[in-house]
Amino acid sequence: MNIEQIYKDANALLEGHFLLASGNHSARYLQSAKVLEYPEKAAQLTDALAKMIKEAGIEVDTVCAPALGGVLAGYELARSLGVRSIFVEKQDGGMVLRRGFEVRPNEKIIICEDIITTGGSALKAAQAIEALGAEVVAFASLANRGFCRREGSQIDAKPECKLPSDVPFFSLEDFTFEMYAPDICPMCKEGSSAIKPGSKG
Ligand code: ZN
Repeated sequence: MNIEQIYKDANALLEGHFLLASGNHSARYLQSAKVLEYPEKAAQLTDALAKMIKEAGIEVDTVCAPALGGVLAGYELARSLGVRSIFVEKQDGGMVLRRGFEVRPNEKIIICEDIITTGGSALKAAQAIEALGAEVVAFASLANRGFCRREGSQIDAKPECKLPSDVPFFSLEDFTFEMYAPDICPMCKEGSSAIKPGSKG
């Protein structure tokens, strides 16, 4: 399965000249929600992710996603694994379990995101779950921006990665894009101007 092509076909992998939230510029941008627009495509992706997790021998009771970004990916991964799906929500700088969701002590949980950049939200979700006595057995995401090291990848974790190194991280693909400070951006040098991804021109 060509993951990059699936993202391109879904207009989830944009090419151009983008201004990122960090202030840096990039020639590519991952609009990760777009790849989940069609449930059939989403299921194809999470089936592949579930296969990796099963083949690694990870036992899992429940998938937990950080809202909002991870909810669809988490729900589809739970379906692919045949387990239940819950999500945590932002509150006071951390994440909390609400809406009557519960976890048992020692329940085996996978934290799932649509995309892992540095893993900050995933880590907060894991902390919320562990504070309730459950066990985080793995992290998972459809796409990996290349800051954290996914299982089977040759790309090492960068210092920005917030995921714990002793818990496996499963992801379908590394999307490592060059980022440039505006003053050294080669696209700016060629005279084009960076646009915010998602803006209508
Ligand atoms: Zn630029």
